[in-house]
Amino acid sequence: MSRFVARLFILASQRATARSVVLLRRVFIRPLSTTQGLQSLTRYSENEDWQKKLTPEQYVVTRERGTEVPFSGIYLNHYEVGMYHCVCCDAPLFSSEAKYDSGTGWPAFKEAHGTWERDESHTSIIRRPDNSLGSAGTEVLCKNCDAHLGHVFDDGPDPTGQRFCINSVALKFKPRENKPEKPQEN
Ligand SMILES: [Zn+2]
Repeated sequence: MSRFVARLFILASQRATARSVVLLRRVFIRPLSTTQGLQSLTRYSENEDWQKKLTPEQYVVTRERGTEVPFSGIYLNHYEVGMYHCVCCDAPLFSSEAKYDSGTGWPAFKEAHGTWERDESHTSIIRRPDNSLGSAGTEVLCKNCDAHLGHVFDDGPDPTGQRFCINSVALKFKPRENKPEKPQEN
């Protein structure tokens, strides 16, 4: 009998411990085995899945609308030819041709990839009014996955006059493939 009671007690305390372990695991520990990862995909909310997929910096910026420290981003002084994709869902967002140095400390682009004149319906970004900066501003998000990317301002260079001020950690650069070009015949 006392064995039984002891066993009950152990079960109860195990349950309590298991609960706190689950809470701790959700914050600090990433599952190591594939099976656990697969189970968690169906069990956890979308937010927690992003936490597993992204680094803490990427998560705070893209999913919690954070801003990276100015002059800290890896793409600030990056001028390779290629495409900047969404770090969350891989959608192509900004071409290197539209990138310029705004001097503000964040990567800047004149327009989003797919912009035709002023039409942004074929781009992978959406704009949303944002008053959190103290004055009326415009937030830029990934159209595909709602990732917060940065903000857009009207003080950009010609011809667009737009300055897309984008966090490096929200982006993933892919260099353009160098296909062997045929020698031009004149
Ligand atoms: Zn995305």
